[in-house]
Amino acid sequence: MRIQIFLLVFWSCVYSSAKRVTLGGIFPENDLTEKAFNLAIKKVNRDRHDSEDLSNIFFVNETIHDEDVFEISQNVCTLLRSSNVVALFGPQDRASSGHVNSICDTMDVPNIVARWDSDLVRMNAINLYPHAESLSLIYLNIVTQFNWKSFTILYDSIDGLIRMNYLLKKWDSKGYPVTLRHLGNTGNYRGVLKRVKNSGEENIVIDCSLKILDDVLKQALQVGILSDRHKVIVNSLDLQTLDLEPYQYTGANFTGVRILNPDEQDPALIFDHELAEMGLEDLSKLPLEAALMFDAVYIFARAFKRFKDAVKGDARTLDCTALDSWEHGTSLSNFIRDIEIKGLTGLIKFHTNGFRSDFQLDIVKLDENGIGLLGIWNSTSNEIEWAKSQETAITEGEMDMANQTFKVLIALADPYNMLKESSTKRTGNDRYEGFAIDIIQELSKILHFNYTFEEGEKSYGNEDPKTGKWDGLIGQLMRFEGDLAITDLTITAEREKAVDFTMPFMNLGISILYKKPTKKPPSLFSFVSPFSEDVWISLFITFTLVSLLLFIIGRLCPAEWTNPYPCIEEPETLQNQLTLQNSFWFTIGAFMQQGSEIAPIGASTRMLAGSWWFFCLILINSYTANLAAFLTVETTDKPIQSADDLATKGDQGLVKYGAKRGGATFNFFKGSNDSTYRTMYRYMDTHKEHVMTDDNDMGKSRVIKEDGGYAFLMESSSIEYIQQRECGLTMIGGMLDQKGYGIAMRKYFPYRNKLNTAVLYLQETGLLSQLKKKWWEEKRGGGKCTDDAGGASAGELTLDNVGGVFLVLSIGCAVSLALTTIEMLWDILWTSHNDNLPFKEELIEEIKFVAKCKGTVKPVRNRKDSSRSTGQSTRDGTPPYGFVPIITTTHDNDS
Ligand code: GLU
Repeated sequence: MRIQIFLLVFWSCVYSSAKRVTLGGIFPENDLTEKAFNLAIKKVNRDRHDSEDLSNIFFVNETIHDEDVFEISQNVCTLLRSSNVVALFGPQDRASSGHVNSICDTMDVPNIVARWDSDLVRMNAINLYPHAESLSLIYLNIVTQFNWKSFTILYDSIDGLIRMNYLLKKWDSKGYPVTLRHLGNTGNYRGVLKRVKNSGEENIVIDCSLKILDDVLKQALQVGILSDRHKVIVNSLDLQTLDLEPYQYTGANFTGVRILNPDEQDPALIFDHELAEMGLEDLSKLPLEAALMFDAVYIFARAFKRFKDAVKGDARTLDCTALDSWEHGTSLSNFIRDIEIKGLTGLIKFHTNGFRSDFQLDIVKLDENGIGLLGIWNSTSNEIEWAKSQETAITEGEMDMANQTFKVLIALADPYNMLKESSTKRTGNDRYEGFAIDIIQELSKILHFNYTFEEGEKSYGNEDPKTGKWDGLIGQLMRFEGDLAITDLTITAEREKAVDFTMPFMNLGISILYKKPTKKPPSLFSFVSPFSEDVWISLFITFTLVSLLLFIIGRLCPAEWTNPYPCIEEPETLQNQLTLQNSFWFTIGAFMQQGSEIAPIGASTRMLAGSWWFFCLILINSYTANLAAFLTVETTDKPIQSADDLATKGDQGLVKYGAKRGGATFNFFKGSNDSTYRTMYRYMDTHKEHVMTDDNDMGKSRVIKEDGGYAFLMESSSIEYIQQRECGLTMIGGMLDQKGYGIAMRKYFPYRNKLNTAVLYLQETGLLSQLKKKWWEEKRGGGKCTDDAGGASAGELTLDNVGGVFLVLSIGCAVSLALTTIEMLWDILWTSHNDNLPFKEELIEEIKFVAKCKGTVKPVRNRKDSSRSTGQSTRDGTPPYGFVPIITTTHDNDS
């Protein structure tokens, strides 16, 4: 009685805090999936006390068995009518699944499944099993990374072929044999396995149901196709559930894939107790569908909790015949799709179509130590991250390139990849020659691999911003359509995200291909060329100023006022030779290096004259020297000298310019922040129909054809090649950037390090330079044009070149002005002192006379007292310039 009361209290507690809802399950009888379903529900009900995410929910499980496909619909309807079912789990069977799925669709009841399915699921179905398409991709990735060049697929059903979909596409009638062999339904697979052995095939992919996998492997061992010669990929996510010990020591390279990693489990999800109940020793033996069912119940529980908190909708019974539907079914489905948790099978997250997204698969190998991790494949990036030990294996040469054949994608571009000029028909690799072709040949000699060239797409590779897909050679590599790609393929940051490159085998930068500057016809006025316009103008101004200054200083300088009649001791007037005309005549005479009769007398005027002569000396010599250079050197017409010139001329409509459509050069301008390059990008983008070309060759032809009307932006290495052959073309300006060409390959290509080392070796031994010389300067018309662009040139002298002379002259002028002032003041002081006249008055008189700027004869004031003798004065006696003038009777009346 006590026990009954206790149970009553216990259950009332349970039901008061949580309302029970039913989870329907459809499974084969006595299947582990059903057990997992029931145990998972038990665990959720238990965990709700400890976990906030599961609180207040209580599930009851109702299971029906799906043995009879015809009764399944009826059984599901009965279940829905009798219980408050909020979701249906299963069935695993494909035929039953269709029925259940359509009932769930009609009645809006979420349907959660965990089985391999190649169909796109319907509205309410949510599938935890990785989608067939994703699985197909991982096997293609593995086969490509292992570099298998042929293989045999052993399969047992059409589903297997769907899973192998991408691998089958690798088949190529010309050189990629893929053999398909059906295992048969008899249970004896030895016949077909022997045929594989006899064919000599070493690479085998096995895709069969888990039920027969063990037998197939055992028989494969018996017939001897699991030897150390063989490489086997087993396409089953349940490989680890088998007893693999018999195959551990075969020496075969045994690879598999798993989603459930028993060594990396969340402690919260460990359910040893449940495993024991299922009769399993550990998690690794749990079949995938059972593990997924466990995860399915767990994510449903969490989603249901959120749904309950948000929607407050109750479950109810539903009647199939009344076409009844549950009003909350769709929103519950949406809650499930939104959930993101870590389960037994890794991260569980859904795509809108109800399949899992962002999951990872382990690539495992089987050897003496059991199952070991090789790498992790990510469904989002479709990339394999190899485990450290595997990387070491790769670098240590376990994955040797020797004797392997690689498909090398090329794009025809001179001189990297060219068709041989020959009258006989050539086939295979023999059709091609060029710099890149030689590089691959040299690499193959070092690394002992074989290669086949295949012409790839013309475009080298750009990402479509909308779809994120790559085109060109890069896209082809990513789609496994080739192993390596080589041409003038520029290494860019964008491309590095999609593929890997070797280190650069050539360095270059963007430059301008344009017609060579033409020689200017000799100019009639070439004599003005030695000086720039500024210098000529300055020279003229200086000449005028110095002449005027000489005139003024001449008037100020007392020594310049001389006795016109030396025989008359006390002349009434004094005369000045530095009239305005004479001053100009003196300076021009000196400049022309002809001299004149006028010779300055005073220290200041001589100072000025000396400065002017120095000025003339330097300028005339500079002029003569530069004129000689100008007359001997041919001047050239250079309409464009840099990218800035090109941008300006393009905007003015004087010169058109373009680049290769979608090439790295165009992308450089597209991505640049520099204002000139942005302008150039806008120009090219706006006029793309008229200025862009499909390849470099078309660009070159346009530059030749439009003779100065078109410039082509291209990479310096290709310009150098053209310069050797088209003598009318040249490279303008320097390089706008620095970059290199590399050999492209898929991401994580296992031989990248080996290729890098080999490229480095080619560089260090000078072989790359030799090849460059061969293809640039020797073959195919190389060395035709000798570069005369670097010849002597002469430029006009600017003010910067001759500014110093102007400075010296200015200083000379200043000093002579100062000297004149001193001389004049001294003379007035002397006169005023001797003649007892006020200094100020004398000074004003003198200044007034000078300021008149007229008359070259000056009366001698206060003659009666002028018996002074300075010894230096020129007012009496013989003039200091050393000759005695012949005196005529003419009297100057100017005074
Ligand atoms: N090397 C360039 C590329 O990889 C093509 C030529 C160019 O753009 O100048 O895209």
